[in-house]
Order: sequence, then C-alpha cells, then structure tokens
Amino acid sequence: MTDLQIAKTVTLKPILEIAEKFGINTDDIEMYGKYKAKLPLKYIDVEKANKSNLILVSAISPTPAGEGKTTMSIGLSEGLNQLHKKTTVVLREPSLGPVFGIKGGATGGGYSQVLPMEDINLHFTGDFAAIEKAHNLLAAIIDNNIQSKTTSLQIDPRTIGWKRVIDMNDRSLRRIIVGLGGTTSGVPRETGFDITAASEIMAILCLAKNLTDLKNRLGNIFIGYTYNKEPIYAKHLKAEGAMAALLKEAIKPNLVQTIEGNPAIIHGGPFANIAQGTNSVIATLMGMTHSEYTVTEAGFGFDLGAEKFFDIKCQSAQLKPKAVVLTTTIRALKYHGGAILSSLTFPDLEALKNGLPNLEKHLENIDKFNVKAVIAINKFTSDSDEEIELIKQFAASKQVKVAVANVWEKGGKGAIDLAKAVIDIVESNASNFKPLYSWESSVKDKIETIATEIYGAEYVDYTLKAKEDLNKILNLGLNHLPVCIAKTQKSLSDNPKLLGRPKDFIITIREIEIAAGAGFLIPITGDIMRMPGLPAHPASENIDINEEGEITGLF
Ligand code: ADP
Ligand code: MG
Repeated sequence: MTDLQIAKTVTLKPILEIAEKFGINTDDIEMYGKYKAKLPLKYIDVEKANKSNLILVSAISPTPAGEGKTTMSIGLSEGLNQLHKKTTVVLREPSLGPVFGIKGGATGGGYSQVLPMEDINLHFTGDFAAIEKAHNLLAAIIDNNIQSKTTSLQIDPRTIGWKRVIDMNDRSLRRIIVGLGGTTSGVPRETGFDITAASEIMAILCLAKNLTDLKNRLGNIFIGYTYNKEPIYAKHLKAEGAMAALLKEAIKPNLVQTIEGNPAIIHGGPFANIAQGTNSVIATLMGMTHSEYTVTEAGFGFDLGAEKFFDIKCQSAQLKPKAVVLTTTIRALKYHGGAILSSLTFPDLEALKNGLPNLEKHLENIDKFNVKAVIAINKFTSDSDEEIELIKQFAASKQVKVAVANVWEKGGKGAIDLAKAVIDIVESNASNFKPLYSWESSVKDKIETIATEIYGAEYVDYTLKAKEDLNKILNLGLNHLPVCIAKTQKSLSDNPKLLGRPKDFIITIREIEIAAGAGFLIPITGDIMRMPGLPAHPASENIDINEEGEITGLF
C-alpha cells in the first residue's frame, strides 16, 4: 500500500480530543477544520518545558537511497507513548516544491505518519503563504522606496540582497528584472525568486520566541547599502510591524495527530543548508511544555542539520537535548561503501563494511556535543540478518547503543527497542549537552571549528570575496552571530562526490551572506540551490482529485 492508502485506512480522532490529551483547554483551541488546530502561545511555559526530555533524530550523510528521519521520529514517538512516556513529535511543515517535485511530502511513511497527510502536504494552515506575503511585502516596500522622490533612503539597488519568494520549484524565476515599463512602473533592477522555505522570514519565524522577538528580528533584516555605503535594515523602512501582523497566525504552532492517535506538532520549515533546518523554537517549547519526551528532527545528515540544531537553535533557545537517534540504513551505508544504487537491495557485506566509516564519523561528532547516541537501523525489507549483525558488532566495538527499528512496517511496535534505548540514556543522565563553539569567538574561528572538527577538513580556504565579507561583517558589528554553513549534504566535505569518510580535504568559503534578522551568518561553500527546479517527470503528474474531493498520488 502507498503512504496515502495507509493514511486513509485510519479513522481520525477529532482534534479536540487530541488537544485534550495534549493538555490544552479545548476552549482555547483555534480550529482549522476538524483535524487541524493552532495552539495559543500562552500554553508555552519555559520552566516546565526545560523538564521535558528533548530527543533529536538525525542521520548519516544522505544518499539517494533515503534515510527516513521523519518516519523514524514519528515511529519513535509512538513507541515511547506505547511505553507510557507521554511523548510529542515536533516536525517541520512540508514545502510544495518537493511535494510536486521529486522527494514527495514530509509526513513520514508506512505506519509512521502524521495525519491528515493530504492537508499537511498541501497548504496546511497557510503558514507558508503568510511567510511568503510577509517576505514579498518587504520586497515591495524596498522597490517602492527606490521609486519615491520624497522618501527615498538612497538605497543602491545593486547592493540589495532581498529577493522575492514563492513556494514552488520554478527555476525560471531564479533571475529576473523588475521595474520594466517606464517611469511609473518602478526602477529596473536585477533580482530573483527563492523558494519560500529559503526565506529569511522562515528562519526568523522558527527562531523567534514570541511576537516581540519576531518583530525585532524582522526589523534587523539586512537589505543592502545606500550610495553613501550606509547599511539599510528593514526597520529603516518601518516594515517590521506590518510584516509581523501578517505572521500573527503563522507564529502559532499547528496541532495534528499521528496514526496511533498521539499529538504531533508541525510548524515552520526552513531549509537545512542555508538555514537551521528544523521546526520552530516555539513549537519545540510547546511540545516540551506538555510532554515528558519530545522528539524532533533536523534536516540532512548530522554534520549539517544537527550541528545547526545544536549550535544555533539550542544555544539560541537554551535547549539541552538528552539523546541523539542516528538514523542509519543498510542501503545508504552500502552506497557510502561504493555499491551502486541499483544493487542496494542485494546483501553485500563488503560494501556495508566499507560504508561504516561514515557512520563512525557521525558518532564521533555527536560525542563532541557531549550527548549520547543510539544508532537506529531503519529496517527495509531487503536488509539481511548478516548485515544487521555487522552493524551491531560495529556498535558494540564503539560502545554505542543500537536498535533495529521497523517503524515503517509496524509503527510504534517497531520502535520498542529503540524507545527503551532512548529511555535508558535519559534515565541514566548520560548526556550533558555542550555546544561546539561559543558565539563570542571570531567568525573565522567558528567556521574553522566546524570545518575541522565536524567535517574533518584539514583547513579552510577563503576566496577574496569571502575575505571582503569577513570585513563587511566586522564593520556591521555582526561578529557575534553564529555561523550556518551552507554545504552539500551528500558528503562530509564540500565535494558531493566524496562519500564515506573523506580525508585530507580543504573547505573553501566562497562568500558569507548575512541573515542579521534570523541572527546568523551563512558561509557558502559551493553552489547552493535556493530555488530548485522540477524534474522532467515531476511528482505532480501522478497527483489527482476526484469529484468527491479525494486526492490520490501524494507520497
Ligand atoms: P527524511 O526525513 O530522512 O528525509 P523520510 O522519513 O521523509 O526521510 O522518508 C523518505 C521516504 O522513505 C518516505 O517516502 C518514506 O515512506 C520512505 N521510507 C522511510 N523508511 C522506510 C522503510 N523502512 N521502508 C520503506 N520505505 C521507507
Ligand atoms: Mg524529513
């Protein structure tokens, strides 16, 4: 059965029932139909939240074979609930780009899903639309200011980094000229579109602690320079109030349910390369306030998503995660060990063994944050007993816990061993989270610490442009911001072709972007896609709806 077919076999509980189970007065629930709701921010209690056990689900370096972090996060939360630990899974919202492109939705798979999957994958409660509007409002205000004779701040259009956004894979919009059509239609300038998930507003919404903090961050968005080289921020255009007003509902986390009828919170969806790649701080704190265990996911492999989760999100919101679940598939390890994609379903102990160094490096990286890990083998039907045994032996040699998790086929029942391993780590107080670096150290130090310690690079090289950017950051007084390195997810290095555990490589920083509103700097190491394109046969070709309003073809 497909994910959507499985989802349709489930009788959903009314969202009020889920809210009650979660611990929210049903009078306070803001309903979006029968099965979705927004939760008021007054239900966040930071002191209470800090008593919850935060579990991060991450993975080895992603491969085309797929790892299954979202599926694992949902399955683990079902397993913990089966063991009578009140648990909430907190996830990102899907972007329409991948839904209609290659990857599909982001609501898990098999018997570990969040529901209603059609709604969550298509528009959901409109958060992405609100973010898009807030983003494009600022773009309109900027172009309007350039047009105005009386209120112009003398912004040099060639220095403006702020583009427009749309939630669609639409490569034709990457670079455009606006303002064509004569004196009444604006001043022509080159700009472009990014996908909404790549908007700085998305990153801001996901780091904001409340509306005031949201507004401050929006005001701090760096736009460019005047002709006299004075920096211009969104607050100089008095944009932050109206932008925050547009985000009034989007800032509230969304409540839905898992297949087994447990609460799930889905909120925000920043990219995991140029942004922090994890759901909102508000959603995480909401989950933590009302649960003994809170399970969350960070995008891509541990080197990208989890490092940012720890060093940016956890430092910013003072969260202390208690354990990391490192999602691993036998197929992906074989791919890292040199096997080709079409052969991954056949047993191959040699390739598996050669792929283990990738897993090993991610385990060493988790250690650097002083958090205990458990390896979750995401079981695929093609996995052989010998292959599973090999990973177990490897884990034993590293003194790391390991569990086979068959959550895709069995839901929470398939995660009991994993859940027990997680509980064991939490109850023995084995972790004492510490970030990798201090925000106060220099930008270069921060970049070099991540590159050498986490990626395993020999050293870091800077282009001339990157050196200029370092100076620019110093002059703007933004040295204290954490760094959100944009790097390929396919390799621990900045070269997507280097699989496994690459050695003796250097990391080249090409330029450093400023996301002063979100509150981080983005050192860029390669070609980073902010507006993906659709494949020749996009997933949209298989999506349909009938006269009864039933959707097919989503996955
Ligand atoms: P990630 O969060 O790491 O991107 P997902 O959990 O979204 O990965 O899973 C990606 C895809 O792989 C989904 O379509 C899911 O149904 C599928 N998948 C995950 N785990 C399994 C499994 N054990 N067997 C079969 N398919 C799986
Ligand atoms: Mg995911």
